[in-house]
Parts: sequence; C-alpha cells; structure tokens
Amino acid sequence: MNLPMTDEECRVAMAALSGQLDLYAKLLVNKGCALKEGQELMLTASLEQADFARRVVRAAYEAGAGHVTVNWYDDAVERMDLEYVPLEWFKTVPSWEVEQRDSLAEAGAAFLFLDGSDPDAMKGIDPAKPAARRKAMNTQCVKYRDGMDFGRNVWCIAAAPVLGWARQVFPKLSDAEAMYRLWVAILSVSRADGGDPESAWETHNASFEQTKRYLNDQRFDALHYVSSNGTDLTVGMNEGHIWDGGAARTVDGTSYFPNIPTEEVFTSPDRMRVDGIVHSALPLSNSGQLIKDFWFRFEGGQVVDFGAAEGADVLQHILDTDENSRRLGECALISKNTPIRQSGVLFYDTLFDENASCHLALGTGFPECLAGGVDMGKDTLMAHGVNQSATHVDFMIGSDDMNIWGISKDGTETPLFVNGQWAWE
Ligand code: ZN
Repeated sequence: MNLPMTDEECRVAMAALSGQLDLYAKLLVNKGCALKEGQELMLTASLEQADFARRVVRAAYEAGAGHVTVNWYDDAVERMDLEYVPLEWFKTVPSWEVEQRDSLAEAGAAFLFLDGSDPDAMKGIDPAKPAARRKAMNTQCVKYRDGMDFGRNVWCIAAAPVLGWARQVFPKLSDAEAMYRLWVAILSVSRADGGDPESAWETHNASFEQTKRYLNDQRFDALHYVSSNGTDLTVGMNEGHIWDGGAARTVDGTSYFPNIPTEEVFTSPDRMRVDGIVHSALPLSNSGQLIKDFWFRFEGGQVVDFGAAEGADVLQHILDTDENSRRLGECALISKNTPIRQSGVLFYDTLFDENASCHLALGTGFPECLAGGVDMGKDTLMAHGVNQSATHVDFMIGSDDMNIWGISKDGTETPLFVNGQWAWE
C-alpha cells in the first residue's frame, strides 16, 4: 500500500530516477544486445518512449555503435492505419521496409525493441489485419527474420512505459503516479534497480545454468501438467531436445539476453505429441486486444477445439495464421517465486506476464532447442518435431496449484513442479 503522490512529487521522483534510467539503457545495450565496436543497431520505439529511447541511443554510441537507426511508431497512427486501410494492403511488406530490415540484418546489426503499449489500443479492430501484417513481416523480411531465428543477429526486447499501459496496470492512480510506479516496477523486476545492473544479470544468468543442466540430464520423454482449473495436458519432448534459458548465443559465440526481464527455462516440444486440455492462468494481450479465460483442447499435437470468455475471434485468427499455428513451438517453466510474480503486478504485457507463469506458445519453435538444430533447414527441424510457423504467441498457464511431472521413456514419473514451484524449492 502506497500513499497517493501529488504530480509535483511524481516529477521530483522521476527526476531522481534519471541516473537509474541511464544504467538501465546501458544494461540493454551492453548485456541485452552485447553491442560491439562499429556494430549497427536498429532501435524500435514508440514516440511516447522518446526520452528513454534517446538515452538508449546515447548509451549505444558510448558503447561504440557504428550507427543507430531508430524505427519510431505511434499507437494512434497504427490504429488509424488499421481502421482505414483495407486488409489486402497488410499482406505485403513495402519493398523499402524489407530492404531496410534485411540490409541491416545482413550487415550484422543488433535489433532492440522497446516494448510498451496500451493493451487495449487496438480494441475493436478486425484482428485479420494485425494478423496479416505479422505474418507478412515474418515471411517477407527473410534475412531479418532468419538472422534472429538462426543466431546470426542479436536481438533484445525490453520495456519502457507509455501512458495507456500505465493506466491499465495502475487504474486507480493519477497519470503521473501510474507512469512513475510502472517505471519503478519495470526497473525492479528487470533487476535494474541497483547500482550495477550489468553484474546483477551475470549473477542471474548463473542460476539458469543449474536448472538447465538438471533438465537436460533427465532426458524426459514428456511432461504432464495438472491444475485444479481443469488443465490436464501431456506434452511430448523431442529426442535431442535442449532446455534453454538466460543468455542466448549467436553462432559466432556472442552471449546476449533476448528478453529483459527473463525468468524462464524453455524448450520446443514435439509438434505431433500434445494431448489433453489446458486453461489460461492470465489474460493475454495480443496485437492490442485482450483475450480472457481461454482454453485449448489438443489432439495429436493440434488444437482441435478452443474457447474464450473474451477475444475468441482474436484467438481464431492466431490459430488460422498458417497450417502449423495450431501446434506448439515452446513450453517454458517458471516458478511462482520470481520477482515478477512476487511484485503482484499484472502487467498485461507478455514480456512480463510470461515470466510470471509457466507458459506455452503456439507457432514456431526454436532451432537452438534441438541438438544440431541451428544447422538444420526448416523441413529437417519439422521432421525432428520442432514446429515452424509464421507466428509465435505465448500464453500463460501456470496457476498457483499447478503440478508437473517429467515422464521418462520407461514411464517413470518425476515431480518437477509442486503447487506452482520447482519440486526442490
Ligand atoms: Zn517463453
């Protein structure tokens, strides 16, 4: 419980946070992107995040960036695009935009995305349009997409507040206080609230190593999820699956953090062996629209039935993206004892909420989650069970009473999660 702040108190408090914001900007550049001398950076940011974006640009040049390209966007303009422009237009990425992204990817650029938007910004928009645009971006900017997916380009997603988002997270506070509190929450759960965020991230990364080592040694054949909300789901593991998490590595060995914050260990499950029913544990904000209280029934790896209390049409468009968007590309394990969950803040933003809860993702899987996967083509990955699709949508399933067992080839069941946390916690 916090006493309300006046606007003047918020202004003073934000000014006092200035040095910390610069440390956070440095964290994103130096750890998130592991930026190298002379390297190009493309920063995607909202106009509302301009102050923080400028701090990131300065941090990048101070770290030796060759050039920084800022790709500005604005939710209000985005919404007008989606309202006025016909669906057909969104099926093709303009050639100049393909050229911009692909040429930067080929030049070895790092890609940094500042996440943060009003989760309701696109409410009422025909979901076919954002779905078409996402698919076009993922299938037509080939060098850009594959550069990130196959470990040739570093990329990082991290957040900065915008007002519509802050209002949703803190609906009872004044605008100024909601913005301030959201900054404080982001810095805290991103482990960027101390004097040396960069070394805090090295310590954090070490704890991932233990968990990954344990899971990779077990060689489970499947995971079995059960929760009192009705979830009873079995997810097959691929032969040669690899649990990943914490820092990622490019093919040339650069260690970077694709997500800040991150708390998950994850792998790509067998695209053909998912059976049972799974219920959502948190609402999902997708392309500016909220989906609430939803469930999927899987058979032979595919969603065969689903429902939602709100946003079922948005789910339908996700599922219909392509022939593989009804299959899973990711399963991630996150204890309920993480700073994000313990903050008690529901962020309405996948970057945070996915790190508060065990989750699954429909759509494309990860080459690095299969032994030898980064050297395989898409068809070979599919043959080994790693799904390939033009979409990847995480959804949260980790309830407080969720139990998960790892099932070995011989049928032995090992408790992995008991009541929402690791069995050994
Ligand atoms: Zn994930």
